[in-house]
Amino acid sequence: MNVLKFGGTSVGSPQRIKDVADLICDGNPKIVVLSAMAKTTNTLLEIADYLYKKNPEGANDVINRLEQQYIAHVNELYATEHYREQTMKAIREQFDYIRSFTKDIFTPHEEKAIVAQGELLSTRMMLNLLLERGINAVMLPALDYMRIDENGEPETGIIKENIAKLLSTLPKGDIYITQGFICRNPYGEVDNLKRGGSDYSASLVGAAINADEIQIWTDIDGMHNNDPRVVDATSPVRYLHFEEAAELAYFGAKILHPTCIQPAKFANIPVRLLNTMEPEAPGTLISNECDAVEIKAVAAKDNITAIRIKSSRMLLAHGFLRKVFEIFESYATPIDMICTSEVGVSLSIDDTTHLRNIVDELKKYGTVSVDRDMCIVCVVGNMEWTNTGFEAKALDAMRDIPTRMISYGGSDYNISFLIRAEDKKRALQSLSDHLFNVGSND
Ligand code: ASP
Ligand code: MG
Repeated sequence: MNVLKFGGTSVGSPQRIKDVADLICDGNPKIVVLSAMAKTTNTLLEIADYLYKKNPEGANDVINRLEQQYIAHVNELYATEHYREQTMKAIREQFDYIRSFTKDIFTPHEEKAIVAQGELLSTRMMLNLLLERGINAVMLPALDYMRIDENGEPETGIIKENIAKLLSTLPKGDIYITQGFICRNPYGEVDNLKRGGSDYSASLVGAAINADEIQIWTDIDGMHNNDPRVVDATSPVRYLHFEEAAELAYFGAKILHPTCIQPAKFANIPVRLLNTMEPEAPGTLISNECDAVEIKAVAAKDNITAIRIKSSRMLLAHGFLRKVFEIFESYATPIDMICTSEVGVSLSIDDTTHLRNIVDELKKYGTVSVDRDMCIVCVVGNMEWTNTGFEAKALDAMRDIPTRMISYGGSDYNISFLIRAEDKKRALQSLSDHLFNVGSND
């Protein structure tokens, strides 16, 4: 059985919901994971924000507006009075439930309960649409199986057991509809897998049922070997290794949420990225097998800050890097790239919330300099280190670009360059020309 996930924009309007319904009714049994309709999660968070600010009136305004939108959607979605009324009733109940939180003190648990309504709304609407069309569809309630532990990490064993139990007790369906994103915590409270978590849900469900394939459907024009917004002549990437996808997820995360990779990779279940606008296109297949030795794609990440700590004390000393890293750790600031020499270390961060404090403390250990407005350009592919030529090719493409840092060897799948943001377009274009359209420019 396949698990298919559709994101917020894919179910962003009644028409889009109908399109997804057409797409999933192909006679094959499946589990369909849905996000909330586009913008709904943000609106629910806005409601929570009003309630935190003790402004129930503001909250009610937003609730009423959102409810009107959903009423309009329901009116447009169903052909029969029966399903229109039934869905309307369910939706009104959900909005009354949201309203019930406007009456007294508001807590983070209640925020979670409100935010969960988005996925509960979209799945209810889809289920009823399928039932109206005479499809044997069954709701698989995420709150009955999806569990996280105290640290917010999924309890994969429990999830697997719960789904197996549900699938054996629920009426047998041809299509199961379930909510992405939402779950329960160890106290049984409604919780979630963090923003964008529906991809993660799909991957966890796929792993739990040992799916044949996990399909992530978006309305983005597939995965390309370079950023089509920046360079011309990109081409689609058909196959990726999970390791390559993991490297790329940090950069072009638009297509696949980074958390989605691990459960599928671990369970050895391929993930296919597909495009709702072009359902016949093969998409991008990510698996443990796609290991063609080649450079597959180039991506970039903006808003990077580079920090250099130079110190003669580093020479032949041990423990220097630990002290440096501890400072970043104490400010919960992840480090992306690292390059070291005998007398200095350079690293890059994208979260500059605590930059000033970090720099202050680093000064204890050396001379510190900071470069802002940088960008990481990364070349991703299977570049197993005993092969030759890949590094040279990438470096050659970057020949005319001032480069602040270069990193290779953290994995066999990535060469990263830290450059000035203003040079990004030039760098991406040159990498495209040299790596993918060899010959066209010579
Ligand atoms: N609806 C959630 C969000 O907007 C989860 C998701 O779409 O993946 O973050
Ligand atoms: Mg999403």
